[in-house]
Amino acid sequence: MRMVIGIDIGGTKLTAALAGLDGRVAEKIRRRTEADWTAKDNLAALREMVQELLEAARRCGAEVESMGVGFGGPVEPIRGIVRRSHHVAGWEGVRLREEFEDAFGVRTHVDNDANVGALGELAYGAARDRRHVVYVNIGTGIGGALILNGRLHHGATGNSGEIGHIVIDRNGPPCTCGQRGCLEAFCSGPSIRRRAVKRLSRSCAGSTSLPTGAEAITVSSEDVFAAARKGDILAGKLVHETAELLGIGIANVLNLVNPELVVIGGGVAEAGDVLLGPLREAIRERAMPAAADVEVVAAELGYDAGVLGAIALAAQHLNEATTSR
Ligand SMILES: [Zn+2]
Repeated sequence: MRMVIGIDIGGTKLTAALAGLDGRVAEKIRRRTEADWTAKDNLAALREMVQELLEAARRCGAEVESMGVGFGGPVEPIRGIVRRSHHVAGWEGVRLREEFEDAFGVRTHVDNDANVGALGELAYGAARDRRHVVYVNIGTGIGGALILNGRLHHGATGNSGEIGHIVIDRNGPPCTCGQRGCLEAFCSGPSIRRRAVKRLSRSCAGSTSLPTGAEAITVSSEDVFAAARKGDILAGKLVHETAELLGIGIANVLNLVNPELVVIGGGVAEAGDVLLGPLREAIRERAMPAAADVEVVAAELGYDAGVLGAIALAAQHLNEATTSR
């Protein structure tokens, strides 16, 4: 039996899973990382986790022929080299592909978490059987990926799909990338929270279910969506504004690549229809008519999206190697 291993390297947790080529997971290991861990500690933990999965495969007579790694930060996908991590020290220039291939003798493929998330949705989730897909992941940051003609598009240097860094206001707030006014600086989880706190801190904030004044600092983006769902007027305004800003960013992408489907994933997307409803409207209003005729759906893979995407990456390369033989 042929199997693959998928590995998801996040800022606070590591997940590795052994699976069939159809994405069915046979065994999964998850470990929380410690706050003071560097890249070296992460790699040592990952080696143990992969070793354990290889032994599990051996016990059931399966052979692991390919590994896929999704990394939470920019990577150079062809050589499998990490550019940096936004959360963990020491990842700069780590040759992740080589590390795993040398340690285990299994072909390894590396990509960033947004690209891997899109591959997961394409293989096993909301984008199955689709050919032109824009994937947007809204969480701590905003990541994105483009599937063009059924294939992940990397661009010249692997930087394609950075939807979060489309500038929508040249005088907007500073962004983690060093620019101002990026989509991420308005609509990531922390940015939504920042906008909410600013509004709620005013003495006459006009919210009936969210903390106001000095207490506003305790509010989270999840609280804003929950309050909007309950009919809170200020929260409703914040959500509509978020949807409109996201809609402008996504409409720009639609005009450029004309996809048939937009998949929205990540923690913020879990807000569901309270966000997706006004987002669909904003997109329809802002995109050119021929491009605006697009389905906008929530991602399907949820909490396991990262590791399932890594499994999809490994399986895809294995399938391609088999068919080109
Ligand atoms: Zn930016």
